[in-house]
Amino acid sequence: MAQDLRDAIASVADRPGPVFSAYVSVNAAIPENQERAYLVRMRDAMNDLGVPEELQRRVREYVEAETHPRARTLVLFAAEDGLFEVYRLHVDVPESFRWGDPYVAPLTLVMDEYEPYGAAVLDAERFRYFVVSPLASPREGEEVKANGFRELDVHPRQPYPRSGTDFEPASRRTEAHIHRFYNELGKLTRDVTFREGVRRLILAGPRERTAEFRETLPNELKDRVVAEEHIDLGAPEGELLDRLEAIRERAEHERERELLEEIRESGVRGLDETIAALQEENRVYHLAALWDLEGEIRWCDNDRLAIRDTTAEECPFCGQKTRMRPLTDVLVDLAAARGARLDFMLGENENTDTLRDEFGGLAGLTRF
Ligand SMILES: [Zn+2]
Repeated sequence: MAQDLRDAIASVADRPGPVFSAYVSVNAAIPENQERAYLVRMRDAMNDLGVPEELQRRVREYVEAETHPRARTLVLFAAEDGLFEVYRLHVDVPESFRWGDPYVAPLTLVMDEYEPYGAAVLDAERFRYFVVSPLASPREGEEVKANGFRELDVHPRQPYPRSGTDFEPASRRTEAHIHRFYNELGKLTRDVTFREGVRRLILAGPRERTAEFRETLPNELKDRVVAEEHIDLGAPEGELLDRLEAIRERAEHERERELLEEIRESGVRGLDETIAALQEENRVYHLAALWDLEGEIRWCDNDRLAIRDTTAEECPFCGQKTRMRPLTDVLVDLAAARGARLDFMLGENENTDTLRDEFGGLAGLTRF
């Protein structure tokens, strides 16, 4: 992840409160967000928290003007002294609003634990490379396009093999040229993939092209290919990026399915067992939780620990008063503190069915 982003977030975290922190779910695919209902939720939350009027107005005006947020979660930090920072996440994070100390844990979690996807798109005459990061930090001159994709410059030095004037499909000279061309393209792709920290790579284009390209990829890159899909590069860019996003979502769904399968074989499940393994035994490195996980859990602010006895108004470790907190908030804090990845699973599908019905909404992959 880019250091400047990390610095920016650290400087928010170090600010004295009160700061208004908001993680607003703006994902248009979620039914609860129809008619931009998040504007109402945010307004109500700010009123409940007692955010000063003038600050409320600034926040509302900003978010209302964002008719196409180009994100799934909009993250805001705002304070009366002029602080106003916005981040766009391309992952779904449970909605939360705070007024007090800056709340950066969900942001830190997303930055540290989610991997960017790369998409190499090619046909006989073109090669394009897109990256979508959970938190985009475009470099100079880069723009964030639909669905959070950024396009990177990848230019082979040689001309495209099939667009030259000496087009001779049967000749050995052409065969050799094609091979050299794809070799160079493979190396360029490897360099940019490693530079961007992409661990999951999509190949897309006419099937014969992607197959040929995949053949010549360096081995360390072949291992990162998670999907190879037929796609028409001649389509308008908006359509192309929608297709890529659909492919990425399918690949993510498959990754989640595999995660749940692994947990089924050797993981922990259910609220009690998972919290104990995460917090007390420190052996969970990857959590799966329902996005709309309901419920509250007791919490000690002094120890920063969940207290699993819901009746314990005093902390069994330090004796101080405990309080009830939403379960998802506690999970985010614990996962960030323990360095565990946290996948929130969303919607009605076989993965959320498994997670809800078989694992009780929360499960984890363990180290030992
Ligand atoms: Zn305590």
